[in-house]
Amino acid sequence: MTGGVRRALEFAVVFAAYVATARLGLTFDAVGGVATAVWPPSGIALAALTLRGRRLWPAVAAGALVANIATGIPAWGAAIFAVGNTLEAIVGSALLGRFGFDPRIRRLRDVLLLVGLAAMASTVIGATFGLGGAALMGIGAGESSAGFWAVWWVGDAMGDLLVASLIFVWALPRVRLSLRPLRLLEVALLGVALTFVSMLVFRRQSTLRVVELVRGTYVVTPLLIWAALRFEQRGAACAMILVATVAITATGVPGSYFAAGTIHERLLMTDVYLAVTAISMMTLAAALAERRFAIGARDEFISIASHELKTPLTALKLRLSSAIRTQERPGPRDASSEEKLGRALVASSMTTDRLVSLVEDLLDVSRLTAGRLVLRFERVPLDDLVRDVTGRLREQANETGSPIEVSIPGPVLGSWDRTRVEQVVTNLLTNAIKYGAGKPIALSAYAGDGWARLQVKDLGQGISRADQSRIFQPFERVATTTRVGGLGLGLYIGRQIAEAHGGTLTVESAPGHGATFTLDLPLEPPAVVTTSPKRAS
Ligand code: ADP
Repeated sequence: MTGGVRRALEFAVVFAAYVATARLGLTFDAVGGVATAVWPPSGIALAALTLRGRRLWPAVAAGALVANIATGIPAWGAAIFAVGNTLEAIVGSALLGRFGFDPRIRRLRDVLLLVGLAAMASTVIGATFGLGGAALMGIGAGESSAGFWAVWWVGDAMGDLLVASLIFVWALPRVRLSLRPLRLLEVALLGVALTFVSMLVFRRQSTLRVVELVRGTYVVTPLLIWAALRFEQRGAACAMILVATVAITATGVPGSYFAAGTIHERLLMTDVYLAVTAISMMTLAAALAERRFAIGARDEFISIASHELKTPLTALKLRLSSAIRTQERPGPRDASSEEKLGRALVASSMTTDRLVSLVEDLLDVSRLTAGRLVLRFERVPLDDLVRDVTGRLREQANETGSPIEVSIPGPVLGSWDRTRVEQVVTNLLTNAIKYGAGKPIALSAYAGDGWARLQVKDLGQGISRADQSRIFQPFERVATTTRVGGLGLGLYIGRQIAEAHGGTLTVESAPGHGATFTLDLPLEPPAVVTTSPKRAS
């Protein structure tokens, strides 16, 4: 499919989904015919702009305009509503993007971001435009403004909480769905049980006294917990939609659970119940996913670490065996065996250095986790330091065919921990050699305005946007076609060292076009040097 066709299709899908779910939303109780208990389109718009990019905003604007005109209000009023709906989605998705929201909602942080930034904050825009437009058109004149605004706001928030979260957790391919018969049977059982119990609680009045006595929303909770425990985010989101559909469609039915009072009161009761339950279930599912992820990461780490340590250990063993054989050969040693012995010992020493640096990295993670990274400041000429590091790595760089071009036009002198800065520069250069596809590497450094800047630029495979923030996390690596050794700790440690100096370590890259890592350090130490404990997973 060409880019143009795909974009047109995306546009059409978002537009159609917006209009269709808006009609659906308005078939339930609606204040003044426009403000509803759940406004699914706000969730669809947020999910579309977050997942497929904010350039889709015209689809949201067009959908909102058509959906609002269809309610029978004048076109200029519909346009005011549509501006609010569209701005809300743009701001919501921009805020989520800004704070690193992961649409798979597998961390507690993602739940907080979705609830706080999207559902609660961005929806203020839609509700305010809604109230403004309604006031100009004289809609809901008998209502209190605050009540009207609140219903609109809560409706949009519920759209984000229930509908956007459902799309988020299903949209991205993650684990393949298990289609084992027992699993499918469990899904069916849970679905039937949840529908039956929700109907009993929210919809019907029973003639059985005992059913009336125990009728309460708490009866639904164990089934929702079942969904979250066994099917995590996807299960929890589906179960919530099911319960919400039953609860909302029941509000107009006499004798139903949330039937009492005025339309405002009915909406308020239904929405508060649904919001509290949805947030609780999302939190539970995210906490479970976080735990599963942490356990998986630990197991993976153990396997990577053992592999990484075993490779140099095996090499070391081979080299030492060869040295011992040469040494034990009877008779006087000739020049060639002397040379062989010497080579084996030098190689062993280099392999040992590699082992020491791996173990040092692991120790650094423990130090950083405990906040025990101590810096020893001294006057360091950066050009000297760079010369040392490049000298040491020259051979490794020649092996892969990447020449290192150094450009340091003037003196760069600062107060830093020499060993630690050396460690960062070594890591950046080693990475450029490892991932630089054998092309030239450029290292530049200069000082100005109280800061020093060092950049390492390679022309290798580059790093996608999504991976750019991930690689600074401990044990995070990007999958490559050829296996490149490493623990995924260098950049994490590097950034912590930069920050402990009061500086930063950042990356700019595009896949296929190489990567530029920039280390910015103040020339003088920060007033307070702290290394607060960092969580390592
Ligand atoms: P390691 O190199 O030991 O895996 P790092 O923390 O140094 O650990 O790097 C983390 C990941 O970032 C690497 O596994 C690699 O996928 C990616 N990466 C780092 N530097 C580069 C680079 N210059 N070009 C492309 N990818 C890189």
